[in-house]
Amino acid sequence: MAKCILCTFLLVVLGTSSLSAAGELPPSKLSHSCQLAPNQKRSLRGPIPRPMQLIIDNRFNEDQKKEISRAAASWNKVGLQIAGQNFFDILYGDIPLSIANMTNFDCGGQFGGSTFTYVVNVTSDKLWTSMKLGEDGTPGFTSPAEVHSCTNPISFEFSQQVVRIYSSIVIFTQLQTIVLHELGHALGLNHSCDGDPHDASADYISCQKISPNHPYHLAVMYPSLMKRRPNTPFPEQKLTPTANDISRLECLYGPK
Ligand SMILES: [Zn+2]
Repeated sequence: MAKCILCTFLLVVLGTSSLSAAGELPPSKLSHSCQLAPNQKRSLRGPIPRPMQLIIDNRFNEDQKKEISRAAASWNKVGLQIAGQNFFDILYGDIPLSIANMTNFDCGGQFGGSTFTYVVNVTSDKLWTSMKLGEDGTPGFTSPAEVHSCTNPISFEFSQQVVRIYSSIVIFTQLQTIVLHELGHALGLNHSCDGDPHDASADYISCQKISPNHPYHLAVMYPSLMKRRPNTPFPEQKLTPTANDISRLECLYGPK
């Protein structure tokens, strides 16, 4: 999971967790049209097999479901633009408790299939705490969401995947933004910059080195979000994938 030392109490840290040991995506898996900036070379995970059924937990209320499906629809628009097809079939369902409450994500086990992704509403404080999902190494931080993904070591496609939203700490007007970010991970994007300064290198720039108006900072896949925009009472929102998010996705889904 990405660690974030940029974070202050104003920020929401948007976590991800990849369980795969598949390693770096080989260049042969990238599209011909891929134009990845040298300092974002390590910012891709792997493509999803399509069509991917996105199963939204019936435990979300109707308003929450609308926000989540809007986030998925935003990515579908990008899918049509760059690959001529939707990324997600948006569905609602009763997600088995064994998956909703899973505390041990073992890629050798079964918690999802290759053709669907669960979006789970976690309401149990105890579960979130026991899983240490909210902890990124920065004291006092609780992440509102996480993605668990396994990758097929040969095809580099995701084999099973669960997005978990700890909805009780999510400001409703940021739900769509947070889900948009997590679904970006689910589609194979790492953060637009490296939130962990210990890992950062020439091929994956540190978030500490970019200014607030830099395209990587404005991207949906920037690793944190402000609970309040500066000098306003309004939470920061990012409701549309930016050019940087889209060009990186094109590397995964453009013509091979
Ligand atoms: Zn993230």
